[in-house]
Amino acid sequence: MIVTRFAPSPTGLLHLGHAYAAITAHESGDDFLLRIEDIDKGRSRDAFILAIFYDLKWLGLSWDEPTMRQSTRMGAYAEALVNLKARGLVYPCFCTRADIAAEIARAGEAQHFDALGPSGPGPDGPLYPGTCRACSRDEGLSRMAAGESYALRLDVARAAALVGPLTFTERGLLHAVDPLRFGDIVIARKDMPTSYHLAVVVDDAHQQVSLVTRGEDLLAATHIQRLLQALLKLPELIYAHHPLVLDENGKKFSKRDGAVSLESLREAGATPADIRARIGL
Ligand code: GLU
Repeated sequence: MIVTRFAPSPTGLLHLGHAYAAITAHESGDDFLLRIEDIDKGRSRDAFILAIFYDLKWLGLSWDEPTMRQSTRMGAYAEALVNLKARGLVYPCFCTRADIAAEIARAGEAQHFDALGPSGPGPDGPLYPGTCRACSRDEGLSRMAAGESYALRLDVARAAALVGPLTFTERGLLHAVDPLRFGDIVIARKDMPTSYHLAVVVDDAHQQVSLVTRGEDLLAATHIQRLLQALLKLPELIYAHHPLVLDENGKKFSKRDGAVSLESLREAGATPADIRARIGL
């Protein structure tokens, strides 16, 4: 049985890109789940969760109840973190964005290459240059005791060495995992005790998702998520990333750019069939 999911963050109204992702996931599985990814408490709104339910029902989709909300799953993420910490795979990082930018500039001038390679652009922006990885345990503890805020990062090189070479299956093709391409990712943010990658991996396993369909902008994230699955001994999933729906200017729809929402299309008279036609489904 194929279990798929649609996992929106309730930080805005759904747009045509979300409709494409949700319908694709719904049509690809025998069982379809909705998961509300609301770990970012500062940006998530209950009103957007209700709007997600309304839009998906309007599109004719149904999902297994109850709907999981990631904000209720902090205990499970904490357990996964304890596991990684106990194996020495995690270190505290006190750097601010400005510290990271300054370190990257300095490293560039000195032609200094971190063990992970040049701190060039990764899929999520510049790679973390590894500054705090070199901190001693005592220094870390004393900065924590002094009340400095910190994130937790995964020591990716060490983690990758521990699990050995990995692959993932994308649309029937085997891809070699390149875990270093993101650098030492944050697995618990300064303002929340988890991160997107950790929460997704823990929840996909908990919900017994077997096929992940999502936009191809998240294909790169699969490399790090596969590494986390292996570290946490979670089942391997299969993946099918789909092209993004583009607007008339060839740009991807984004909540930030105020993309036309399903709600406003509906209010302007569009039917669910019109939405499907506009996104080629
Ligand atoms: N919550 C993520 C988003 O809204 C999607 C996560 C995923 O599909 O893995 O972009």
